[in-house]
Amino acid sequence: MTTHYAIRPVDLGRNTFHVTVRIDDPDLHEQRFLLPAWIPGSYMIRDFARSVLRVHARDGRGRPVPIEKIDKHTWRCAPIGAAARRRVPAKPASLTLAYEVYAHDLSVRAAHLDTTHGFFNGSSVFLLPVGRERDPCEIEILAPEDPAARDWHLATALEPCAGTARGGFGRYRAKDYDELIDAPVEMGRFVSLRFDVQGVPHDVAVTGAGPHLDPKRLASDLAQVCAAHARMFEPRSRMPPFARYTFLTLAVDDGYGGLEHRASTALLCRRDDLPHVGMQASTEGYRRFLGLASHEYFHSWHVKRIRPAAFIPYDLTRENHTTLLWVFEGFTSYYDDLALVRCGLLRREQYLDTLTRTMASVLQHGGRRKQSLAESSFDAWIKYYKPDENTPNAVVSYYQKGALVALALDLSIRRETAGRRSLDDVMRHLWRRYKQAGADYAGVAEDEIADVVLEATGVDAGPWIAAWTRETDDPDLSALLPKFGVRVDAGPTPDPLHFARLGCRVDLADGRIRVAFDGGPAQRAGLSAGDQIVAVDGLRAGHNRLDALLARIPPGTNAEILAFRRDELLRFTVRTGAQPPVSWKLSLDPRPTLPVRRLRRGWIGG
Ligand SMILES: [Zn+2]
Repeated sequence: MTTHYAIRPVDLGRNTFHVTVRIDDPDLHEQRFLLPAWIPGSYMIRDFARSVLRVHARDGRGRPVPIEKIDKHTWRCAPIGAAARRRVPAKPASLTLAYEVYAHDLSVRAAHLDTTHGFFNGSSVFLLPVGRERDPCEIEILAPEDPAARDWHLATALEPCAGTARGGFGRYRAKDYDELIDAPVEMGRFVSLRFDVQGVPHDVAVTGAGPHLDPKRLASDLAQVCAAHARMFEPRSRMPPFARYTFLTLAVDDGYGGLEHRASTALLCRRDDLPHVGMQASTEGYRRFLGLASHEYFHSWHVKRIRPAAFIPYDLTRENHTTLLWVFEGFTSYYDDLALVRCGLLRREQYLDTLTRTMASVLQHGGRRKQSLAESSFDAWIKYYKPDENTPNAVVSYYQKGALVALALDLSIRRETAGRRSLDDVMRHLWRRYKQAGADYAGVAEDEIADVVLEATGVDAGPWIAAWTRETDDPDLSALLPKFGVRVDAGPTPDPLHFARLGCRVDLADGRIRVAFDGGPAQRAGLSAGDQIVAVDGLRAGHNRLDALLARIPPGTNAEILAFRRDELLRFTVRTGAQPPVSWKLSLDPRPTLPVRRLRRGWIGG
């Protein structure tokens, strides 16, 4: 039986959607409704129900039905009609819930509505009638009544019903609740562009781009990225795994984020990162945007279809633990930039620079010694997603170290097979398994990645994978990269001077320590996060003066630092760091031997 939803932006000024959900033949004794506690792809309990207001229920004749909350995100209706009188009803009843949703979260994860646009994920606005998870859904998306929004239109991966024009307000459908909440909706006056990949239409909606966006360039670059991924997974047909795809992009003055869906993605980016008319070379910001789009698009194979067994099905009421986020986010982070260099949107030197930055942010921090990638994945909900001042000392990123593991695995497989096999074969193997299993697909088990690599490539990577992901070993990239024509040299650290001299990160404007690294000079001297450095060797340190003062002190000597801890002025003697933190410079070997040149070409082209 179909679940009927209707959503209308009722009050743009008050950021409010009005939503109804109607079901026929409800559980007459105690029909329950619930809202997800999290949204797949973003591994943190967000309690979207906190934005739901004024929930009312009515039966098929319009009579009020008492409704109560029984936990933080579940509502229960009182017995309806005949059931209330303990008699069998003559004919099936219906039940309609009506409520408001406050929508003021300018991120890709929830819902936002104001006088400029509206955006929502179904997981923030559509209550699930419990027991109807597999039922088809029909969604009526109503236009705002506000005359100022008369020219708004829609973008979504939901399929329009007969009688609704794609991109217009009207009725849409989804196969089930899972598909419903996997297709966010944007409404407003966005710029629309379109390109095809092997005949599959791709729509791009850009909200807030400003007047000088270069839509042609954006469409042609995105088309290359998408085609590169489709080619990797499906070298013969080169077909993406859906009939249509939608990029929803919100450009703001400052912001960054993306969330993957099976046939669409929601992106948040800086307006300045988008290409403008007349822009010649690509900017670093634009390459970052393309990397983000590439990342989310890759996910439509890897995590939206190929999934950890632990995510089948998602339990939307609580944390879903897996030790494999390093595979699903780490590999995706590896392939996002790799696809750009393979299709020429990133020069090889630029690609090596992004690798350098990833290496630095992993290898400079002590967290990688205290937490394995498997632990980081498992605890994403309470650690990676809830960072604090001690995070660099305690947590390793399954994105960044996961990407380095993917790189090391890729290079190791290529080395062992003289370039005949690679991580691409592993991805294709996983993809074939998903396609062959169809409805029986059970997902990737927690301990089977090494077996998958062996089956796909013949390489026994078990011991490396165990060391890099179950233990806390670093992959030895400075040994691997030179075999692929990449020189690894010690490089200047891009960090500010106080990072090397004091071993901490300081907000230079007011001198406050944000992170004190374990074992660093500041931490050894007794300083900690939150302390506000006000003077170094008798001279004032605030107002961006700290690095200039440190530059006058030879490394390896004592400096006297005055700092406020809460309201108390304290004195510390800090032995300044003599060794700058390790950093790397990766560059292309200009004269590789022929076999090395071949290996390199197989990996990053050229
Ligand atoms: Zn991701």
